[in-house]
Amino acid sequence: MIRRPFRIALVGSGIGGLSAALSLRQAGFDVQVYEQAPELTEVGGGINMGPNAVRILYRLGLRDALEREAVRPLGTHQRRWQDGRTLQRAPLNPLCEQLYGAPHLTVHRADLLSVIAGAFPPERLHLGHRVVGLGDKGDHVEAWFDNGARINADVLVAADGINSTVRAALFGEEAARFAGCVAYRGLVPVERIAHLGLEIGTQSWVGPGGHFVHYFVSRGRLLNFVGWTEHDTWNREDWTDRATIARALAAFEGWHPQVRQIIAAAETCFIWALFDRDPLPRWSVGRTTLLGDACHPMYPFMGQGAAQAIEDGATLAACLGTGNPDDPAEALQRYERLRLPRVTRVQEMSRANKIRFHLPDGPAQQARDAEWARASDRSPEALRWLHGFEAGVLDQAETS
Ligand SMILES: Cc1cc2nc3c(=O)[nH]c(=O)nc-3n(C[C@H](O)[C@H](O)[C@H](O)COP(=O)(O)OP(=O)(O)OC[C@H]3O[C@@H](n4cnc5c(N)ncnc54)[C@H](O)[C@@H]3O)c2cc1C
Repeated sequence: MIRRPFRIALVGSGIGGLSAALSLRQAGFDVQVYEQAPELTEVGGGINMGPNAVRILYRLGLRDALEREAVRPLGTHQRRWQDGRTLQRAPLNPLCEQLYGAPHLTVHRADLLSVIAGAFPPERLHLGHRVVGLGDKGDHVEAWFDNGARINADVLVAADGINSTVRAALFGEEAARFAGCVAYRGLVPVERIAHLGLEIGTQSWVGPGGHFVHYFVSRGRLLNFVGWTEHDTWNREDWTDRATIARALAAFEGWHPQVRQIIAAAETCFIWALFDRDPLPRWSVGRTTLLGDACHPMYPFMGQGAAQAIEDGATLAACLGTGNPDDPAEALQRYERLRLPRVTRVQEMSRANKIRFHLPDGPAQQARDAEWARASDRSPEALRWLHGFEAGVLDQAETS
C-alpha cells in the first residue's frame, strides 16, 4: 500500500475531475482540486448516465441525491426521421438495476455536477486557479497557476478537458479538429409539450446527415433535446453560441412533426460544435497523468464521455490504493494500461455511430435498419460489456 497521507492535486472540476476526487478521497488520499473558473459551472442540458457510471456514483454515497434529481427512463427508442417508424427499442429501467445493480439515469448536467460537488469538502476546491505550468521533480510534482500560486503534490491528475493545458505540456500542443457536426441543444418545460404524450425514455430519430435525441431531466420538469447536423466547416463568423429557434427548425426541415414541435417549444436554443482528437498512445509521464476528456475526448454518440471519465477515477483510485508506495509512477502506468483499451473501444464505436446514424436514405440505410430490426444493438445483452463493467475492481479490468 502507498503510505498515507499521499497528496494528490487534481486539475479541473468538471464531472470527471470531481468524481475522481471523490473516488480518491474514498481510497484515503489527501486530495486538492484546482479549477480555473471562478465558480462551478456546467453548460448545456442533459446527460445520460449508464449503469456502469451510476454504480460508481452510488458507491460514492450519491444514491439519494441522484435519485432526487435524475429521471429513470423506461427504455430507448430509435425512430426514422421522417415517418417516425420504430427502428429499434430496448428496455432500460427497471431491467438495468436487476442486471447491473444500478439504473440508467438521465439528468441535467448542472444537477449532476452539484450532486458530486456536494460530497466534496469545499475547502479543498480551489476556484480561480488556472494551471499554466508543471514540473516533475522526481519525488514530487510542482504546478503553478495564473494567479501566482504554486503547489507541490505526490501525484498530479489533470482532468482539464478537451483543450487540456497539462496534456499539451506533457505531449505537445495540437489543436482539436472540428468533427463536421454541430448540435442544437435546448430545454423545454414539460407543460409546453404535454399534448405529445411522450414516453418516459430516450428517443432518438435518425435521418440523412443528422439525428435528434430527447429525454427528460430535472425530476421530469424539463425535456432536453440535442439535434445533430453535419457541416463542412465551423467558424465563429458564421455561427453564434445561441441559435434562434427558427435556425434550429430550418436545420430539421421535413423531419417528423414531433421533432419540430419539440424544437418550437424550446425557451432558448444553443449551438455547439463537436471537436475531436485521435486516441493518445499514453496518458502518463512520471507522477502526472490525464483523465476524462483531457486524454480521451469522444463523440457523444454512445452517451459515454462523462461515464468513462467517472470510470477512470474509480480505476485510478484502485491502482494508487494498491500500488507500490515508493513508485506512484508505476501505479499510473497500470491505470493507463487498464483504461486505454476500453476507452479506445468506446471512442471508436462513437465514431462509427456518427456514420451509421447519419446515413443517407438508400441501400446502406436499409441494411442498417434491417440489422437493427434483427438484432438490437441497444439491448441489455448487447451492452453488457459496457454497462456491467466494474471499473474499480482491478481483477475484472485486467481480464476484460
Ligand atoms: C452534446 C453532448 C452530449 C453529451 N452526452 C453525454 C452523455 O449522454 N453521457 C456521457 O457520459 N457523456 C456525454 N457527453 C460527454 C461529456 O459531456 C464529457 O465527456 C464530460 O463532460 C467530460 O468531463 P471532464 O471532466 O473530463 O471535462 P470537462 O467537463 O471539460 O471539465 C474540464 C474542467 O477543467 C477546467 N480547466 C480547463 N483548463 C484548466 C486549467 N488550465 N486549469 C484549471 N482548470 C482547467 C475547466 O474549466 C473545466 O471545469 C456529451 C457531450 C456533449 C458535448
